[in-house]
Amino acid sequence: MFPKGTDMKHTSRCGSWLWHRVALPILLALLASGLLGVSPTAASSSVHLRPTTASSQQADAAPALVGYNGTLYVSWTGRNAAHNLNLMTYNTASKVFGPAQTLTDTTLASSGPSLSVFKGNLYVTWRGQDNRLNIGRYNTADPSHLANKVTLREYSSTAPSIAALSDHLYLSWRGTDGHLNLISSADAITFGSKVTYGLTCRTSPSLVASGGYLFVSWEEASTSSSIVIGRYDLAHPATLSAVVTLASTSQFPVGLAPVGGSDPYVSVGWRTANDTHIRLANFEGGRYLHNPVYTTQTTPYGPTLALLSSATYMSWTGTDTSQKVNVSAVNIASPSGVLSYPLYSGNPQLPEIALTFDDGPRSPYTSQILSILKSYGIQATFFVIGSEAANNPNLVLQESQQGHVVGNHTWSHPNLTTLSADQVRTELQRASSEIVSITGKSPIIFRPPGGNFNDQTQAIAASLGLSTILWSVDPRDWSMPGTDAIIQNVLSSTKNGSIILMHDGGGDRSQTVAALPTIITTLQQRGFHFVTIPRMIQNLGPYTTQPASSGPTQLLSE
Ligand code: ZN
Repeated sequence: MFPKGTDMKHTSRCGSWLWHRVALPILLALLASGLLGVSPTAASSSVHLRPTTASSQQADAAPALVGYNGTLYVSWTGRNAAHNLNLMTYNTASKVFGPAQTLTDTTLASSGPSLSVFKGNLYVTWRGQDNRLNIGRYNTADPSHLANKVTLREYSSTAPSIAALSDHLYLSWRGTDGHLNLISSADAITFGSKVTYGLTCRTSPSLVASGGYLFVSWEEASTSSSIVIGRYDLAHPATLSAVVTLASTSQFPVGLAPVGGSDPYVSVGWRTANDTHIRLANFEGGRYLHNPVYTTQTTPYGPTLALLSSATYMSWTGTDTSQKVNVSAVNIASPSGVLSYPLYSGNPQLPEIALTFDDGPRSPYTSQILSILKSYGIQATFFVIGSEAANNPNLVLQESQQGHVVGNHTWSHPNLTTLSADQVRTELQRASSEIVSITGKSPIIFRPPGGNFNDQTQAIAASLGLSTILWSVDPRDWSMPGTDAIIQNVLSSTKNGSIILMHDGGGDRSQTVAALPTIITTLQQRGFHFVTIPRMIQNLGPYTTQPASSGPTQLLSE
């Protein structure tokens, strides 16, 4: 009754994932800064980027990125002498770029275009070679020529930015005198009079609409180059509200995207003034929602961000000599404090490991495992199937009462990637409800059956308060390879931060039970401590995130 085929398929796939994880520097953002219990002293940290796709295209500035009609559109300044504008699509499902379309319009080196969707059309703005501002609509029938191209009378000293909010398109830029400017239009053809703000900025401002507000970010023109984020007060032009100076610096434009949902939260990406690494954070209007996360990706300009189907994507120009255009999904800690990236392992610098048991509860194995754990005085994590929990509530209650953590393994153990969003939500909600009714505690972690998940699965899990947990050690105990084989596999693969996958349900688990005492005693002799997954998450802290330059205090001024 349990899909062994799925598990087998998954196991080989998992190997490839692990390879990616090792090849791509490891990562992990942390969310709630409250989880950071230790001072942030680690030298290196990084954030998980799901496999990055580098295009063959070369850019001479930050690429622009926007979600439109279910696809990501990327526009960039070519590295050819004329600096033509270019456009291509990126299919987030297949991770494949469409063909590049080179436009006849040209811009300047180090001056990228900006994209926005307005009234169902895709618009681009850029700084012409005469420094004048231009805006045009992409013509999908003939992508090489822009429709409704308008050249404004305004001059810009850097790249302009556009964003749409309700029935207006807004355009912001740094004037030739360094001042911030804003102009708007109801039809992208006729623009009202511009508003010039008193402040000056170092580079291009960035615009984004989120939660009914129009946010703008820029770098202070002072030597500090601090990043500033504020909101345009559209009822009172020339007024900026909720202006916050971040304790981070940049000398390149900041990437902004809505976080999603109805709250006025924005995802922020920037390249610091000090090094080429990209940092990411979610911002609520007055503060970061968590410490900024530090990615291993580097760029000579700034990153750009976009939201598509509840997932955040980043585009950037690589620091490689050919300056390739890259796109990747990014997991920035979610506002809810749930891990918004899948966790495969814990802190590599701590001798902590986690035993996890899936597919239970099931008699007699769950009880046998519980008594073994009790005799060694260690805690484990059980990812229970909701329907199994309903059949054996007393076993789930024992798990909880003995200090173990009960996680959600769906109601009926389907391959979630084959289900609709509603079906996925029902599978998770039903299992969580069952666990709450038995233990009185809402589960905060979830493991997708067979390890099969996608962006939709993760987004729905996060919306239900569930972090997605995978594993790094898989002895394939479900295939009953023999007690010795299970022992050898675990002992040869376990290291700091390992999450070990085993099963207490779904079939005959006598080999798993028999292997457990040797596994526990040997790993304890090697100095490992057994922890639950939530404890492992708490202890990720300083090794997986790097706060902004001055530490956990992000706000410098009003
Ligand atoms: Zn399972």
